[in-house]
Amino acid sequence: MKIAVIGSCMVDLIAYTDTVPKAGETLVAKEFAMGCGGKGANQAVAASKLGAEVLMMGRVGDDAFADNTLANFEKYGVSTEHVSKVPGVSSGVAPIWVDADSQNRILIIPGANMHLLPADITAAKDQLKQCSMIILQLEIPLETVYAAIEFGNANGIPVLLNPAPASTELNIDYACRCDYFVPNETELEILTGMPVDTEDQIAQAAGSLLAKGLKNLIVTLGDKGALWMHGGERRHITAPSVGAVDTTGAGDAFIGCFAAELAAGTEVEAAIGRAVSYASHSVTGKGTQTSYATADEFSQWQT
Ligand code: ADP
Repeated sequence: MKIAVIGSCMVDLIAYTDTVPKAGETLVAKEFAMGCGGKGANQAVAASKLGAEVLMMGRVGDDAFADNTLANFEKYGVSTEHVSKVPGVSSGVAPIWVDADSQNRILIIPGANMHLLPADITAAKDQLKQCSMIILQLEIPLETVYAAIEFGNANGIPVLLNPAPASTELNIDYACRCDYFVPNETELEILTGMPVDTEDQIAQAAGSLLAKGLKNLIVTLGDKGALWMHGGERRHITAPSVGAVDTTGAGDAFIGCFAAELAAGTEVEAAIGRAVSYASHSVTGKGTQTSYATADEFSQWQT
């Protein structure tokens, strides 16, 4: 079954450095890499690498990064019929610093991503109706996210919303209309204004969102795995202990794998388990999409 990812395309500009510079300071970093990213694109590529059929809907600029992005989608077998260029606008870019502890700091310049509009959802309605799931994040205009949720609801298509980067402007009523809501700890903290330092605090913050009517809330917890809450149920799925090299895009690996598993008919708890494992594998390699395993690589790593 086909997955529709309606979201961002970015070009990651990644600097690996022992120390990050303070204001006014200039430092020499160890290494630089450029890669295709954006939360939407990452999730689409992860799902496609795992064998899912993926339709990407997004916008790129009319600069040198746009053709790179389109070629990259084609390389990974992601359909680009609904990824078009916006004249006179830059592509989205994301300068990223990865420090000696594998922690990342990211700046987002959205560019063309903000030109994906509610009318584009309507224009693609025939192809979207053939999809078994719609995946959304918050790197495109909120009105477009809401229009996609309405479209999914009206057509009986399950919707997954990854509220990243976190925005307090997100209307929680729309989140409640999604089948799956998947923040990380930081996003949960920002959305609720509650502390998330311990598992109990996380469960309390999550509970405050569930009380508003969320169906399935899945909080990713970095090296601690993920917490799934729905109805009165609470499950903690632990992550394997791995040597983390670069955690950039781990959350996107999780969502791409989770969606691919659901599309393949896996039950929710087992799909979360696979997604935790897949995302943990991704942090053992550098880069974002390049660190995502194919289905074959993933099955070899697990055995
Ligand atoms: P994000 O990338 O959005 O910050 P998280 O940090 O919560 O998301 O990570 C998502 C998933 O990636 C986790 O559920 C886990 O499976 C995996 N992961 C992230 N960091 C580590 C780590 N240091 N060790 C093992 N797994 C990790």
